[in-house]
Amino acid sequence: MKLIDGKVISGYVKDRVKEEVSALKEQGVTTGLAVIIVGEDPASKVYVNNKKKACEALGIISEEYALSENTTQEELLALIDELNKKPTINGILCQLPLPRHLDEQAVINAIDPQKDVDAFHPQNVGKIMQGDYDFVPCTPAGIMEMLKYENIEIEGKTCVVIGRSNIVGKPMGMLLLHKNGTVTICHSRTKNLKEICRGADILVAAVGRPNFVTADMVKEGAVVIDVGINRVHNKLVGDVDFEAVKDKCEAITPVPGGVGPMTIAMLMQNTLTAAKKQNNR
Ligand code: NAD
Repeated sequence: MKLIDGKVISGYVKDRVKEEVSALKEQGVTTGLAVIIVGEDPASKVYVNNKKKACEALGIISEEYALSENTTQEELLALIDELNKKPTINGILCQLPLPRHLDEQAVINAIDPQKDVDAFHPQNVGKIMQGDYDFVPCTPAGIMEMLKYENIEIEGKTCVVIGRSNIVGKPMGMLLLHKNGTVTICHSRTKNLKEICRGADILVAAVGRPNFVTADMVKEGAVVIDVGINRVHNKLVGDVDFEAVKDKCEAITPVPGGVGPMTIAMLMQNTLTAAKKQNNR
């Protein structure tokens, strides 16, 4: 079994980004990311803080906009409008989930697609469908980077994604399809989930339930990618029963230290791409 080390692979991605950010700077072009957070969700605060730290380490200017829980839709849209127009900001990210009184889709729609480094704007989603894109949602993009780094062949392989969210499952399926995988996307209403998963050469679990993928769902020699981040007794665990599954796999990602670090690295990559495109580089 090969452990796919997200810390190592994200390190390579970040080194590459850092070099390019620095080369751009020498040409007088800065790279900047604005992160908006509304409310006090503790997990969101941790994610935003990690994103800020990653920016600092790579020479990317980061601006954090921490708004109160009571922020109105108008106030949030006004901030996005301001950031859309701000030349030193190349990427805008609004940390989800938003408090219930805010219209998440309207907020996503308001972000300039050129600055939409999460790739959630309908224009970018459409481009991903067509296979012609600049930005890809960071988690699926990170998984593709891991598979590439490990020379894992996708073409002709049976790929099963568990989860159909707009952030992970759906774009993940699309990216595997673009690489000529034969893709099945499973979800909460899927029948025969176990049998379908057992057929997978590449199995991606993005469910949000601890130890959901058990050994009897995994084919001998499969590649297993665990996207889940679940807190159990103050410990982070994935969606895959790692101990039971690991010996059956050709390769597997751990939690923590797998997909998580890749997500942030790909956000940095998307921010760099945005800066380059906006400055015609
Ligand atoms: P989500 O809640 O939006 O989607 C979960 C999906 O799982 C749904 O599509 C649902 O249909 C499916 N599902 C639920 N129960 C199921 C069942 N019994 N059988 C089959 N499918 C079932 O979650 P999400 O935003 O896609 O995130 C999924 C997990 O990945 C969460 O644990 C989240 O924290 C984690 N995550 C990790 C990263 C990272 O960087 N590692 C990034 C994003 C999300």
